[in-house]
Amino acid sequence: MQLIDVALALPLFKTFTYRVPEGLTGSVSVGSRVLVPFRSGREIGVVVGVAEEREGVKYRDVAAAPDAQPVMDAPMLALCQWIADYYAVPLGVALRTALPASLTGAKAPVPSRKTRRVVAITREVPTLLERDRMFARAPQQRALYELLEAVGGSGAVEQLMEQLHFSSSVLKGLVTRGLAAVSDETVARDPFLTRAQRKPDTHTPTHAQTSALDRLAQAKPGSVALLHGITGSGKTLVYLELLRRVVVDEGKSAIVLVPEIALTPQTVDRFRAVFGDQIAVLHSALSDGERYDAWLALRRGEKRIVVGARSAIFAPLRNLGAIVVDEEHESSYKQGETPRYHAREVAIVRARAEGAVVVLGSATPSLESWVNATSGKYELLTLPDRAGGARLPKVNIVDLRTEKAKPKPSDTAEADAAFSFAISAPLERAIGERLVKQEQSVLLLNRRGYAAFVQCGTCGDVAVCPNCSISLTYHRTPERLVCHYCLHAEPLQVVCPRCAGTRMRQRGLGTQQVERLLSEHYPRARIARMDVDTTSGKWAHTEILDRVGAGEVDILLGTQMIAKGLDFPNVTLVGVIDADVGINLPDFRASERCFQLLSQVAGRAGRGPKGGEVFIQTRSPTHHAVQCAVTHDYYRFVKEELAGRANPVYPPFVRIANIVLSGTQEEATERLATSVTAWLHKLLAARPAAGVAVIGPAPCPVERVKNRWRWHVLIKAQRQQDLGRIGRYLVERYDVPKQFGLRMTLDRDPVALL
Ligand code: ADP
Ligand code: ZN
Repeated sequence: MQLIDVALALPLFKTFTYRVPEGLTGSVSVGSRVLVPFRSGREIGVVVGVAEEREGVKYRDVAAAPDAQPVMDAPMLALCQWIADYYAVPLGVALRTALPASLTGAKAPVPSRKTRRVVAITREVPTLLERDRMFARAPQQRALYELLEAVGGSGAVEQLMEQLHFSSSVLKGLVTRGLAAVSDETVARDPFLTRAQRKPDTHTPTHAQTSALDRLAQAKPGSVALLHGITGSGKTLVYLELLRRVVVDEGKSAIVLVPEIALTPQTVDRFRAVFGDQIAVLHSALSDGERYDAWLALRRGEKRIVVGARSAIFAPLRNLGAIVVDEEHESSYKQGETPRYHAREVAIVRARAEGAVVVLGSATPSLESWVNATSGKYELLTLPDRAGGARLPKVNIVDLRTEKAKPKPSDTAEADAAFSFAISAPLERAIGERLVKQEQSVLLLNRRGYAAFVQCGTCGDVAVCPNCSISLTYHRTPERLVCHYCLHAEPLQVVCPRCAGTRMRQRGLGTQQVERLLSEHYPRARIARMDVDTTSGKWAHTEILDRVGAGEVDILLGTQMIAKGLDFPNVTLVGVIDADVGINLPDFRASERCFQLLSQVAGRAGRGPKGGEVFIQTRSPTHHAVQCAVTHDYYRFVKEELAGRANPVYPPFVRIANIVLSGTQEEATERLATSVTAWLHKLLAARPAAGVAVIGPAPCPVERVKNRWRWHVLIKAQRQQDLGRIGRYLVERYDVPKQFGLRMTLDRDPVALL
């Protein structure tokens, strides 16, 4: 008899033993998926080991083994085990995270591969003269031909006919004249692959890039390098050359993590330009079937490079040579739900086990990585200057406290007053100059909606969400008040529900309002707004950014999504409308996040030969996050910020786990928090651990979200092993009462404590 241990894809902290019946022995091994009876139903699980028979135990039989080959190899299983231990989650939950959804669902995975009809240009018509003659009586054919040219030479027939309304006779015309041919193509239906191919970067590496590459070439397998390169210093070229060596020369595979694919189409394009079909792009717009396609192609070794967000760290590549984590400081690398893993940490663990080299790249590294790099744990590689002779932009502060106090000309219309409330005179002048010179401007306002909140002018009451302890944001189109935490929406009140006053005031600018002000003030300017509300479509981000790249946008206005990775040489002005958004949040990383955002967005300006300039509007001009962003002084920022993290002690000087207790009833939640805290103190009394402290309990800064009350307790530990041990012990042993929807979650290395 063969017995196996199975981790089910369920939140249970143990594995279960099953018997493999005769007929299945050939197709079950460690790493295989199995369908097993569990309670009264069936569940999918992964075989994690072989079990010994114990006397008197009756084992149930494995019902089915769906795969010809194991879905996980030994290193991937070990990685999942590490996640389970480190983040205190059940192994099955870690396994489920690492596999594509269609492998852990009840249904069998369906590859999405199918064929589609494609039309491709077969003959070039190079001269305009020839073109005019050829298409003199067939303007539709010309339109189709030139469209095909513009999209890289070929396109899907279905799309051309259905979305772009070319008729089949137009298509037939091109084919009969020998200008194009139609064929069937097997495709993974990835829209990224139909994007126009750009030319590969052909720059000669700078001295700094070369020396970084040399040191990477000598890096020990499993080691980590921090590539600290200022914005525009050419970090991407370092990644590309590293991959060329690892993948092309050495025949290994590589993972490139980016914070968010939709926001970084340019980066993806650059990788595709060099490596073409070798690349699998894993982005959030993929269907489960497409994701599974990519997964298969990677596992079979058909593709050896994966570019993707957080979860791409689990790509089933063998013979891994390098992992790049671009913008390593980004909080989107941390998963917001269980398992709350950080892709950067997983990358480091995976690389160590598989002998790959890790490169963490950023202009504003996280303090954690910085401390590791300066203590010698990571190698520090520096790109101190912008590549290609570009220089960092000059950053000007506009102090809103004095700027707003300036007298306005008395005949200013109301609209002008509203405009100058949002855009100060110096910034207005700068935008105007750009419009005249046909250069582009990027404006950041990290607050979506129309107004931040609505307040009664009589009693001061602010409209808050009925489910969350958060004020409602006023949205104009469609008009309503919206909670950005739980999406609760309600109509705008014209009368104060508390004092019946009728002077309801909108306070605090949002992107919708600034967009309106800008378009009224600059009626001829082409303005694009990019925030969560304008980018709900799958490709909306990319479309907006492509328009900016094509020079079809004069002013790009947006939330923090516009601060990342954009490289547009014609952007010569960046304006930050309100630098203070988020600066005073009750969170130990608030300053760090503010500094990163300001530095990153400032870094979008002046990447081309025309140079650039930045205006930061703020009411806190002396705040060190603002000051250091103005002088592009990462070193000073780190020094001051580290000093602030020493007392009370916070990461990177200590490891923390945030334990959040939540429930539908306020007292019960508080009681649970008190009891968990007492439990932890008792545990520490029984098994003392040096350098461990339990802080709290206290209500979370955001006390209520989605109708649930929230309390939290912090565990701080000098040694990370202690934190793991205590966290696991708590999560596995502490019995949360099954009432009032009470829940306990543990967030290790949290990116925020809100
Ligand atoms: P980062 O990611 O560090 O902000 P990028 O990789 O986007 O910077 O590079 C900034 C710009 O500099 C890009 O337009 C890139 O093509 C260009 N560039 C990179 N390396 C070189 C080089 N060695 N010589 C000239 N231009 C370069
Ligand atoms: Zn809410």
